[in-house]
Formats: sequence, C-alpha cells, structure tokens
Amino acid sequence: MTDSVVVAPSDGNPVAPAGERRASDVVTPELVARLTAGIRGSGTDTNHCPFTGEVLAEFPTCSTDDVAAAYEDARAAQRAWAERSVRARAAVLLRFHDLVLRDQDELLDLIQLETGKTRLQAHEEMQAVLVVARHYGRKAPSYLRPRRHLGAVPLLTQALVLRHPKGVVGHISPWNYPFELSAGDALPAFVAGNAVVMKPDSQTALTALWGRRKLIEAGLPEDVWQIVLGEGPVVGPAVVEQGDYVSFTGSTRTGRDVAQRAAARLVGSTLELGGKNAMLVLDDADIDKAVDGAVRSCFSSAGQLCISIERLYVHAAVAEEFLGKFTERTRAMRLGTGLAYGADLGSLVSARQLEVVTRHVDEARAKGATVLTGGRPRPDVGPLFYEPTILDGVEPPMAVCTEETFGPVVSVYRFGDVEEAVDRANGTPYGLNSSVWTRNTRRGRAVAARLRTGTVNVNEGYAAAYASVAAPMGGMGQSGLGRRHGAEGIWKYTEAQTVATQRLLPLAPSSGMTDAGYAALMNKGLRAMKTLRLR
Ligand code: NAD
Repeated sequence: MTDSVVVAPSDGNPVAPAGERRASDVVTPELVARLTAGIRGSGTDTNHCPFTGEVLAEFPTCSTDDVAAAYEDARAAQRAWAERSVRARAAVLLRFHDLVLRDQDELLDLIQLETGKTRLQAHEEMQAVLVVARHYGRKAPSYLRPRRHLGAVPLLTQALVLRHPKGVVGHISPWNYPFELSAGDALPAFVAGNAVVMKPDSQTALTALWGRRKLIEAGLPEDVWQIVLGEGPVVGPAVVEQGDYVSFTGSTRTGRDVAQRAAARLVGSTLELGGKNAMLVLDDADIDKAVDGAVRSCFSSAGQLCISIERLYVHAAVAEEFLGKFTERTRAMRLGTGLAYGADLGSLVSARQLEVVTRHVDEARAKGATVLTGGRPRPDVGPLFYEPTILDGVEPPMAVCTEETFGPVVSVYRFGDVEEAVDRANGTPYGLNSSVWTRNTRRGRAVAARLRTGTVNVNEGYAAAYASVAAPMGGMGQSGLGRRHGAEGIWKYTEAQTVATQRLLPLAPSSGMTDAGYAALMNKGLRAMKTLRLR
C-alpha cells in the first residue's frame, strides 16, 4: 500500500488508485499494545503486509507450556461462563454484532493489511461473521433448550435431552479469512457455554486479536477466549492435544494430522479443509449472469477462498459466448492496494502462495495449455500480486487440473451433456463447494443433488450457500468432516445427554408377572405403537 499514484500500465489489467493511508497509520504501537494486552508468550514474531512486504506488527509467541497455562485459565473461566443462561450468552453475540458494525473501518483496514484482499472482500468477510452472530444470538436459546422426546413406553417413560458444553474447545484457523475463521467459527462454541483456546495463523494475528477484544467489549469474560500465537507445528499440536473438542480449518494435509491426534484421544473434531471447486454452466444459463458469477467466484480474495471456483465446465453450445465475455471481464479487473473500496482484485498473501500459483500456471503453459488472459505476476502493483488468469486446454497430468491452487486461476473445460459434466465435476477427492448455472431452477436443483460437495449454489458461485447460516456448510471427501452453521454448527460444541424418567411401572416384569406374561404384553404394546404410528 502506498499513497503515491500508480499509473495504469499500457498492457494487462488496470490498477486501481492506491488509498491515502499507509499501514503505519493504522497499525500503530498503541493499537498493537491494545490488541496484545494479556496475550501470553515470551517469544516474539512479526507479520508482514502483503501489499508492500513491510513489517506490520511484533507480537508475543507461545511455548507449549504457555498453551498449557492458557488451557488452565480457560478451564477455570469456562465453569462460570457455562452457568450463565443461554440468553445472557446470546446477548453477548448480539452486542458484538453492533460493535463490529460500528467499528468496522478499523477491522476492514486490518483484514486488508494482513491478507492483501480488497475492501469489498474484507467487508464480505465481516458480513459473514455478522450473520453468524445474529443467527446464533437469536437462535441459540432454541438450539440449546432441553428437548422432550417420545419415551420407551408412552406415558410411562419421559425422555429429555440436555445439551452441555464440551468444555474447552481447541481451535486452529488459517490466514485467508481471519475474522470469519477465528471469531465467526468460535461464536457458536461460546454461546453453547464453552471456552476456546485458539491458534490463528500468525500472519493474521491482529485480525483475530481484534475480534477477541471486540467480543470482550461485548461482555465475554477475558479468560473464556485464549489466543495463543506461534509456529503451527509447535503450538498447533499443543492446542489439539488438550482440547475437549477440536475445530480445525486449513489444508487437507494438516487436517489429517489434527484428526489423527484428536482421534487418538477419542476427542471429536470438525475439519474444514481444501477444495477444487467446480462451476457448471449449462446450455440454458443466462450467460451474462453466469459471467458475472464466474468473475466473483473465481477471483474473490484473489482465489484464496476455500469455496472459490477453480474448474469451470461450460456447455459446448454456449462456450464461445461465455468465454468471450468472461475473458473480457477478467481482463478488465482492477488490481489495487488501497484501503478504500474500488479495486476488484487484491494481493496473494505470501511468497509461498505466489510460488504455487506461478508454478501451476507455468507448468500448464509448458505442457500445452493456453492462457486466455493473465498468467503473470504483477510486481509493479505489489510484490505478491498475480493477474487473474483463465486457462484453456488443461489436462490431467497438469497440477492445476487436480491440485488446489488457491490463487486467481481458473481452468475452463467444455462438455457435451450434463451427465458428463457431473461426472467430471465429481472426479476429484475433494467435495467442498460447487455451482450450477441454468434458467431452469428445477433442473439446477436436480443437477445440484448429484454433485458430491457439501454446498452447491444454483445461479451463484459460493455466497448464497455460505451466507445461508441456518443451513449446514462443510466438505465431503477430502474437504473435511463435520459442518459449521445451523444446528450442526452449534450441537457439535455440546454433549447431548438423555435423561429418561420411568414412572409407575418398570420396563421389566413386575407385580408377580411371569416372564412369558411380560413378553406377551410387550408384543401387544409393540404392535399397538406401530398401529398408532408412534415414531
Ligand atoms: P495450513 O494447514 O498450512 O494451516 C492452517 C493452520 O494450521 C495454521 O494456523 C497453521 O499455523 C496451523 N498448523 C500448521 N501445522 C500444524 C500442525 N502440525 N498441527 C496443527 N496446526 C498446524 O493451511 P493454510 O495453507 O494456511 O490454509 C489454506 C488452506 O485452508 C487451503 O487448503 C484452504 O482450502 C483451506 N481452508 C478451508 C476452509 C473451509 O472452510 N473448508 C476455509 C478456509 C481455508
């Protein structure tokens, strides 16, 4: 980010004007001191601004002993927190909602400075958290209330299901959606009465710390949310090995390790992992809307979005029109570094991401793929920028065909009939998100039901399913285990306890009844319950 004016180059994508504020105007020593107050650790680390490469902040990092101490404090605080009523806990989420909206400028600055995404995409991330806060703020009392169920014998047995918090949840999150995957995913754990020990990615530590401060301002007791920073392979396993439940978002490779560690302790886990998401443009799609949707869902957060589209299957009958318009729109995207609305595409987050993107595109090109637009880094905009890229002629041996790129790169494939498109879309071990475009909603839903992904968007790329927070979201196959959002997204943070009360007669022969007499009575009872359609 710079306040100097960047002149649009004569070729390639135009550059959006830079914002006027610098990173150092936002990330002041006072802000860092406010956010890191009370955060454990005697080590230190720094993070960098992807827009410029400059150091943003220095913050404390933890040893494994620090993680153990964080768990100790969290356990002590959790008991009193769980004793508050669900309504009182839910009220904290609703206050958090309002405080975040009020103070959004500071949050959006931090998200942009730590991830390199555009202002609009930072705002979209904030929206995702606010809908979660509102949903669980309003619905948690209903999700968590004791529920009556039909007992073993009607009238004689009463069954009541209680929901107890797990205790202390170990939570690990990546850098790409640092507000959503830290605060957003922890909100249902808190409202269910848990404490959380969280390890966010150090690159986006400030955003996670900002969310914690804001939730404390809204009424969460300080010790209920512990943030531990530091090296993933050191602090991560320490978080996993002490949690009463584990919530992990990140790569499939790390997720497998996390799941094994949790399983060894017989502790449950949710894993939100990678994807290779497909969009299907059917022959009856509204092409202009599909083009619009493709631009948004292939290049949001420069493709560093787990549910973004990396494979685009277009019916041969509309491929020429679609590709012409899609290429033109992509070529016109404005790259930008400013802390203001206006840019269409931000930066990649790290040299590692830039390396993967460059390698995937260069290998595909070397093996015969065609670059329809993009295909090169843009150091003139910022050290980690890469142009939005459309590849044609991609085939299986190329890494970009099967591996998650996690960058602004999409491969286009043509298909002849829907069966073929569904088979090819499903032909990956991943199963996170997909998208179908058609003017016929019924047809769209029928195709959707055959796609093996946890979410499918009809006439949208990713946002419709993700933002429908009353409905579950997560991955099939190698894209994960468990779900966020909706009932699944809060019940996973609870232990269900069935309290069954037997009245009048036991579930056994009684009052001198013979075994045979009791068996005959139960035979009648079983027939009657079926006839009465009891469930
Ligand atoms: P990553 O697995 O490298 O890191 C994720 C987190 O795990 C980080 O906080 C990291 O420090 C920590 N970590 C590293 N080693 C660890 C270990 N041995 N034990 C425990 N924790 C450890 O992932 P990344 O590359 O930083 O993130 C991008 C990936 O996340 C992509 O694959 C993306 O698709 C995925 N993702 C998935 C979702 C979803 O909801 N499904 C959402 C966002 C990102």
